[in-house]
Formats: sequence, C-alpha cells, structure tokens
Amino acid sequence: MKPKSKSLRLSRRAWLGAALALGLPPALSTAAPPAPAKKIKNQDHDGQVVPLADLLAKFGARLDPEAVPQWLALVTKDDGVYPLIRDDGSRMFFKDKRLLKRPMRLTGRLYPGTHLLQVVAVHSFVKGQLCEVYYWCDTCRIKRYDKKACECCGGPMALREEPVKKQGALPTTGKRG
Ligand SMILES: [Zn+2]
Repeated sequence: MKPKSKSLRLSRRAWLGAALALGLPPALSTAAPPAPAKKIKNQDHDGQVVPLADLLAKFGARLDPEAVPQWLALVTKDDGVYPLIRDDGSRMFFKDKRLLKRPMRLTGRLYPGTHLLQVVAVHSFVKGQLCEVYYWCDTCRIKRYDKKACECCGGPMALREEPVKKQGALPTTGKRG
C-alpha cells in the first residue's frame, strides 16, 4: 500500500545479493569440491634419524621438555635436516630408540615449501646392506611396522631387519596396518 514498500523490498534484495557475492562461507558454497592434493613424488633420503632437540641445541634453541620426544629429524649426509611428520610411516622411530642414530633410508615426500618429511617406507643399512625394517610375531607370523604387542596373541614382537634381495627393485613396504 505504502509507496515506499516496493523500493524497500528491492533494496533488501540488492543487499542480500551483495552479501551473497561477498561473503558466502565456503561450507555453504555450491562450487566444485576442492581439488585433491597435488601428488608429490616419494623419494629416497639416506641419513640418520636423531632427536631434533639435539640439533636445535647447536643452534641455541631449546625445545620445551614435553616437545622433545615428539620431534625427530632425518639428517642427511649433506647436512640436510628433515623433521619427521609423526604418523604411521615414521612411528617406529618414536617408539624404538634402537632405530636412531644409525644409517637409514627413508622413502617419503617433502611437504611443499618446508623440510617436513612424511615417511612411507623405512629401510636400514646393516653392514652396508639395505634391509627392510619391521616387527615380527613368530607365533602368529604377523608383520607390523611399529613396536607394539602382537594384536593377535598379545606377545612381544621382535625387531627384524631383513636384507632386501634386489637392490634395484625395492619392495613396496608402504602398505601399513
Ligand atoms: Zn602374536
């Protein structure tokens, strides 16, 4: 009835349109889902895994005590330092000190723009021979990739380092679980 009402309604619509154009939250967006993360190639990195705190001490930095056990890094022969992303692939180093400070080959990928290394496969060098590293329950004949009680019999699992037969073709030990 009032002459004003139409113009009010229009301006409200215009305002809504502007709000939609400017600030729709991503969750409500009807745009295509985000593209899958770009595939980054896994590469072999030879070196030794050490506590990051030891390296930082040389740099004059000190980690908080509670952070010390959470950070390990691979130090390569050319003094590259690659902190390990703590997940399925690197867990064995956090749980078994026997794997630290000795020659290893970590296969994995670097988070772009950082030196953070995500490990997908671990091999050790025993007397110069490349070995697969795993934990084995002799009773159940189960192979796992971190130190824990056997999920089948509850018994201890033994660390094994088994020479890789063909130097040229590494077995795909990326499968976990
Ligand atoms: Zn078992």
